[in-house]
Amino acid sequence: GRSVEGLSESIIEKVKRHPCYSEEAHHFFARMHVAVAPACNIQCKYCNRKYDCMNESRPGVTSELLTPEEATQKVLAVGSVIRNTTVVGIAGPGDPLANPRQTFRTFELIRQAAPDMKLCLSTNGLALPDHVDTIRELGIDHVTITINAVDPEVGQHIYRYVTWQGKLLTGIEAARLLLERQMEGMRELVKAGILIKVNSVLIPGLNDVHMADISAEVRKRGAFLHNIMPLIIADGSDFQKEGRRAALPEDVAAAQERSGAGDRLMRHCRQCRADAVGLLGEDLSGEFTKEKFRQMS
Ligand code: SF4
Ligand code: SF4
Repeated sequence: GRSVEGLSESIIEKVKRHPCYSEEAHHFFARMHVAVAPACNIQCKYCNRKYDCMNESRPGVTSELLTPEEATQKVLAVGSVIRNTTVVGIAGPGDPLANPRQTFRTFELIRQAAPDMKLCLSTNGLALPDHVDTIRELGIDHVTITINAVDPEVGQHIYRYVTWQGKLLTGIEAARLLLERQMEGMRELVKAGILIKVNSVLIPGLNDVHMADISAEVRKRGAFLHNIMPLIIADGSDFQKEGRRAALPEDVAAAQERSGAGDRLMRHCRQCRADAVGLLGEDLSGEFTKEKFRQMS
């Protein structure tokens, strides 16, 4: 298991009951995702927007969209059956911060209804600097940012576009803006004492060699964990059209090795769905469809 020596009390407190942050915790504690955020503000070339956001989830899965009220009902229903559920996250089906009204309303309602739940959020980072105050005020302790490049020369091949203040940016301009916003967001989160996990999608031939730089840079800037996720090619995505190949377990192992991140690597990520329920690796989402949790509450 991961050693927690040398960490402050407050960090240990934040880590020990979160199944994604603690390899030990993931055997005992469950997390759930609620899918309340449909829109996205960028277009990653690995994503087909018919499915859940691939920053935290596997392709080909379409979660049932919930309102903030339905999501809260679901949290209560799941919590009453799976009592070791300690974390509620919003990870899609689009980018949570491209849907700030739904996302924060949901967290607010959950905070009131189930005050012991840890709150968690994942984002591509574009809108992050605008929302750090709200994130802090709502007591969201954990934020995951997906960072696939720390050099716009690399990033320009990963994003088709970024939408920003009513404009559509492409190419290196898009990659540069996204990176700036991600770094600014990280800086503000660190100041606010919020734990950061960085997810990076490993894209063979594109950012595999660059992965060591990403890892070093985000850890230098205060990310607590780095999670290198293998690219899975989504049907209908740009990368499929470009004929790119998925990342293999040996690609991930090599990138992890080169990253030098040691015990700050997350190695047990399961690339969950935007409506995942249960222990990591155990998918109970089908037990808690809208239809079913309504009957339960
Ligand atoms: Fe798709 Fe998520 Fe990328 Fe948006 S941020 S394009 S939903 S993978
Ligand atoms: Fe945890 Fe990975 Fe699942 Fe997110 S996708 S909830 S980080 S295991």
